[in-house]
Amino acid sequence: MDWQDFARWGARIADWGRTYHETIRARPVRAQTAPGEIINALPVAPPTVGTDMEAVFADFETTVMPGITHWQHPRFFAYFPSNATPPSMLAEFLATVIAPQCMLWQTSPAATEMETRMIDWLRQSIGLNDTFSGVIQDSASSATLAATLTMREKALDWQGNQQGLSQLATLRIYCSNEVHTSVDRAIWVAGIGQDNLVRIPTQGATRAMDPASLDAAIAADIAAGLKPAGIIACTGGTGTGACDDINAVCDVAAKHDLYVHVDAAWAGAAMICPEYRDLWTGIDRADSIVFNPHKWLGVQFDCSAHFVKNPDDLVRTLAIKPEFLKTHGQDGIINYSEWSVPLGRRFRALKIWFVLRIYGLEGLQRMIRNHVTWSHELCERIRTTPDFEIITEPVLSLFTFRYAPAGHGDLDKLNQSLVDRINDDGRIYLTQTRVNGDLVIRFTAGQVSATREDVLLTLDVLKQLTGDLR
Ligand SMILES: *Cc1c(COP(=O)(O)O)cnc(C)c1O
Repeated sequence: MDWQDFARWGARIADWGRTYHETIRARPVRAQTAPGEIINALPVAPPTVGTDMEAVFADFETTVMPGITHWQHPRFFAYFPSNATPPSMLAEFLATVIAPQCMLWQTSPAATEMETRMIDWLRQSIGLNDTFSGVIQDSASSATLAATLTMREKALDWQGNQQGLSQLATLRIYCSNEVHTSVDRAIWVAGIGQDNLVRIPTQGATRAMDPASLDAAIAADIAAGLKPAGIIACTGGTGTGACDDINAVCDVAAKHDLYVHVDAAWAGAAMICPEYRDLWTGIDRADSIVFNPHKWLGVQFDCSAHFVKNPDDLVRTLAIKPEFLKTHGQDGIINYSEWSVPLGRRFRALKIWFVLRIYGLEGLQRMIRNHVTWSHELCERIRTTPDFEIITEPVLSLFTFRYAPAGHGDLDKLNQSLVDRINDDGRIYLTQTRVNGDLVIRFTAGQVSATREDVLLTLDVLKQLTGDLR
């Protein structure tokens, strides 16, 4: 392929993208293919001779597109959104064309310096004070792993990386049952072990960790000769949007001198609206925070903002060189690969710059406020629809509900078949979760181009598809 072909195809794919997005509502949100359909359409062996782009692109349309679940569909109400706005796509295209590696300052000074500035723009946007600096990670999972490793090294007086864990104290980390599974995996990968992830019971409608139980669990561990290392709190848990009381958690942490990491992967984006910040009152007391601009801020995957109070601790944990002997950020040189597990790094800051400049904070705030307002409106309509009950109240744009016609025995089975029916229908996409053991249906709005009509269509679909389900 020569550069003239590249330019021609670049323009054609941009045009294809316009049509795709303009007509996306006509597609079923969740892929309607059966397992094996796509792999069977792909030749078993690689081609020995090259072909032309026209043939490849035709196969892309016929083989790939039917097997795509449309995350940018405005009626994608499953999981959490993974928003991609047009300016973020264009920035990604530019970053892909230049394809720099951004592990050291000198391997692309613009990428490093823009990352520093963009992290600070994000910090200001979500209302964190200026004691935080940060880094862009590939995912919240990586940020939480980096935070867990930092807790581990601090608690072991920086001996874990050097000696391995087998001869050192048994570490303990605390969280509720509402945190994301990335916390479990961080504990495994950090060598701390699932048995040392202590689950603290939650209380109240916010499903927050009970601070008295947290304090008691830590005290009991110390008495038993174990070594508490840190607490992982959540703002906007994945299942139902649980929010720990950050101030209360930080009070307990301060008493025992423990590290606090806050996972706000989804809800953090909403903090660009000051009126939602009471969900994480006390956040400036945390040691580290993660939120994903790639979820609800229109900065397409992958882009995870990891804020840290003390970057020296993170660098001391992850840098190969004894970087703690140097100054970070003060001489203008930061090597971000020393702030994360992978060495190689993509130029992710560019898409934040494009998105924030094109929409401004006002544009993004308007989008998030709309999603929240419309989700609340839908919730009220479902609440007053016969045979439906709201199970967890909206946290921002996330709530759960259940179809519960009187006299029906197995509601779990009924609701799972309703979810399956909805997703086979394809007009909207929802997922299920469990609340107190019951299977419930989960709704969250967050796609950039969703309208009020898209959100409210959910009720029509529910009414239609429950019609003959009973
Ligand atoms: C989505 C999510 C994660 C995982 O995010 P990745 O960036 O995919 O690793 C972690 N925690 C919470 C609360 C989430 O919603």
